[in-house]
Amino acid sequence: MNTKQKNIRNDFYLLKHNKVVYFDNAASALKPKQVAKTINNYYTKLGTNSSRGVYKLAYEVTTLYEDSRESVAKFLNCESREVVFTKGATNSLNIVATSYGLNNLKAGDEIITSKLEHHSSILPWVEVAKKTGAVLKYVPLDKHSRITVENFKSVCTNKTKIVALTHMSNVMGYLTPVKEICKIAHSFNAITIIDGAQSVPHLKIDVKDLDCDFFAFSAHKICGPMGVGVLYGKFDLLNNMIPVEVGGGMIEDVVNGEPTYKKAPFKFEAGTPIIAGVIGLKTAIDYINNVGYDFIYKTSKELKDYLFARLKELKNITIYNDDTDIPLVAFNIDGIHSHDAASVYDNYNICVRAGHHCAKPLMDYLGQIATLRVSLYYYNTKEEIDKFIAVTKAVQEFFNKN
Ligand code: PMP
Repeated sequence: MNTKQKNIRNDFYLLKHNKVVYFDNAASALKPKQVAKTINNYYTKLGTNSSRGVYKLAYEVTTLYEDSRESVAKFLNCESREVVFTKGATNSLNIVATSYGLNNLKAGDEIITSKLEHHSSILPWVEVAKKTGAVLKYVPLDKHSRITVENFKSVCTNKTKIVALTHMSNVMGYLTPVKEICKIAHSFNAITIIDGAQSVPHLKIDVKDLDCDFFAFSAHKICGPMGVGVLYGKFDLLNNMIPVEVGGGMIEDVVNGEPTYKKAPFKFEAGTPIIAGVIGLKTAIDYINNVGYDFIYKTSKELKDYLFARLKELKNITIYNDDTDIPLVAFNIDGIHSHDAASVYDNYNICVRAGHHCAKPLMDYLGQIATLRVSLYYYNTKEEIDKFIAVTKAVQEFFNKN
């Protein structure tokens, strides 16, 4: 562990005191004390609503709220009017499906998605297909279960209206070639919706370079607060969409009961916003930028190589994502149900994930009911991997499967 990583670990209570080996970062990253401080500061010293009052405190909160929007815009390389604050990636993806999908698709139109998707990326479109008569098509996965440009080309046609794909799989850790796919999709006039919930923690994102139409992520996966996320949308698209929720804070006027709505992004933020979360997101972005994506890439590569090398020393382990792009392994210990194994890991204070990972179509595709998933982030260490490997042996011994 180098000095930088040591300093980083000191910012996280659980890591500083070695309380657990936290290997469930794909579910949610841990939160540094800086994020907690921002939220605490809001609740103890501010606590007012934003965008409504004319008094100084309300103005201060509104400024912090809008500063966060600026910060997200810089983070994604877009304009701040293209940043909608939501409850999370799931909420963002549902907004696009409900507002854009239901109002623009008709029977026979095609929606391209994949079996690699998290339920939050695929199910909103399953519902749109049911309601509009549009047809869902899946990009065939290659032999590693990856989405490739070639396979995408094989399903994209003049009937394709929507392309809804994961940027990075939460089960396999595969990066989708989104830039190339968006280019092809646009040549057929299709709209692209990218689920960035897993890519944002690992990859510097430039939505202009990707040229996607919509992009969604959650704050909690980049060490930010729970309950807040982002929907990026190209301004003209967003601005022409009908709000999904209506209420306070998003109207321009109501004359004789007839409302007119504010422009994007405000028309998608009805009601009192998630103020502490939004402000905390800015601190999380500052934190990640301070850690630096270069450090994240370097650490991720080292951890990934070490994790796979050590896991492959063991017998009777089935790995499903041998050529993953991040330090994430989906595997099973032969003969042991993943939930049973996860309970034994827990006895040794190692947090790993077991189950279908909200990706049932992928589990069916892999022919598995469930897998174990170990997902690391920049604050994890080789020493923690060593402990994980030793406990994996203990799990095998416990169930007599070594
Ligand atoms: N997409 C992917 C790939 C995810 O991993 C997740 C969270 N596990 C989501 C979407 C949904 O994110 P949230 O639960 O924060 O809305």
